[in-house]
Amino acid sequence: MNKKELWEAVLAQIQFNISRASFATWFKDTHIISRNKKKVIVSVPSHFSQEWLQNKYDRIILKILHSLDNQIKEIQYTTSQPSLEIAEAPTSLPAVSINNQLEFQELQINTETNLNPRYTFENFVVGPFNELAQAAGWAISKNPGVVYNPLFVYGGVGLGKTHLLQAIGNEVVKNFPSKKIKYIPSEKFISGLVAAIKNHSIEDFKIKYREADVLIIDDVQFLAGKDKSQEEFFHIFNALYEKNKQIALSSDRPPKAIPALEERLKSRFEGGMIADIGSPDFETRMAILKTKTQERRLDFSEKVLEYIASVVQNNIRQLEGALNRLAAYQKLNSQSPDIQIVQTLFKNLITGSTKVANYKKVIQVVSEFYDIKQSDLLSSSRKKEVVRPRQIAMYLLRENLKSSYPSIGRRLGGKDHTTAIYAYEKIVKELKQSESLVEEINYIKQRIYSSLDPL
Ligand code: ADP
Ligand code: MG
Repeated sequence: MNKKELWEAVLAQIQFNISRASFATWFKDTHIISRNKKKVIVSVPSHFSQEWLQNKYDRIILKILHSLDNQIKEIQYTTSQPSLEIAEAPTSLPAVSINNQLEFQELQINTETNLNPRYTFENFVVGPFNELAQAAGWAISKNPGVVYNPLFVYGGVGLGKTHLLQAIGNEVVKNFPSKKIKYIPSEKFISGLVAAIKNHSIEDFKIKYREADVLIIDDVQFLAGKDKSQEEFFHIFNALYEKNKQIALSSDRPPKAIPALEERLKSRFEGGMIADIGSPDFETRMAILKTKTQERRLDFSEKVLEYIASVVQNNIRQLEGALNRLAAYQKLNSQSPDIQIVQTLFKNLITGSTKVANYKKVIQVVSEFYDIKQSDLLSSSRKKEVVRPRQIAMYLLRENLKSSYPSIGRRLGGKDHTTAIYAYEKIVKELKQSESLVEEINYIKQRIYSSLDPL
């Protein structure tokens, strides 16, 4: 394993051991920058995360590293920048290479593979919200059947699962022209099976999938409750897996959370790499808008794009929809809409968007952030790991929600109002002395506000 593969393997395992929010916060932009036999040096983006990894995750990281290579005995964290070799996958914006006939490409879907050439890695914008999934997808398309099998990508609607799975397929076609690739949404798999049973052609149906070198099944959550399809898929999965054929899957939720899915399938799905796609941050939304305007040779001012990126926050399909509306306006009026017009066009999107956090959100984010149970945070437990986060939650409730001290005390562990006052004042005082606490609380606030839906 080289450095990059080693770290990817560590990340894949860490994901199972900590909450999703902690993973995104602490492991984003980390890399192994060098290693010798016994020691690994990990680069991290800030002093803050360095401290955090050292104090909280050092043992588990070392344990995993050691299990992957038992010579490794020590980790060092550094904030120096990783060298360029890390950036192997294309992360920059593509040049304007796509022709004007993008719409027609929809018609060019390959009937053998079901791949649409429109979806590539080149036009897949990478940001913190999807980089793990993208990196894993990129890795398997360079080395199908070898690195992660299966790859299981999950995330909400319109966030790029289909695009990524299709890009994997297209990239494999490019790298290995002789490999047989099959992409299929699970609904089609199910209806194909029903038809095959009806037509007594079930053997042909099985062969078609068992011959694949790369089998990609989109939206596997729809297999829930379809016993016969699950049964057939289970056998196909095993047959391919045993022959080291690559399997890639997507779903709107992690395997564990798919209801009415047989345990044996869940455990197969969990046996490889699981990567989630979250919501894009502002910078990535801007990058996506710019890529799409370039692709389509549209021209809107930076201000207009910034406006769209700030009001359409968590779905890439909606970002595209917004661009379509602007393009339609431009065509009809033969002029580019200025910011006032854009604001009126999208008025309905922002009315009612009140960026106010609520009590539930604060509790949820704080407990996720510190990796403790909500019930512990709300209990009267005096355990050290809980007391501190509880004080921070109290501080946030007072500072951001202007909750009254008695209600804060009551809600968090049934405490007296004096406890809430004490916690608030303690954190206020510490904030004046500790840069890293300021940073820590900013992270939490960002998380509270960024996850609120403005639409
Ligand atoms: P999902 O399958 O998760 O519902 P899709 O893959 O269909 O989402 O994505 C919705 C739209 O957004 C598609 O047109 C896709 O090309 C685009 N898209 C999604 N993610 C990205 C990305 N990272 N970069 C560029 N375009 C994206
Ligand atoms: Mg999809």
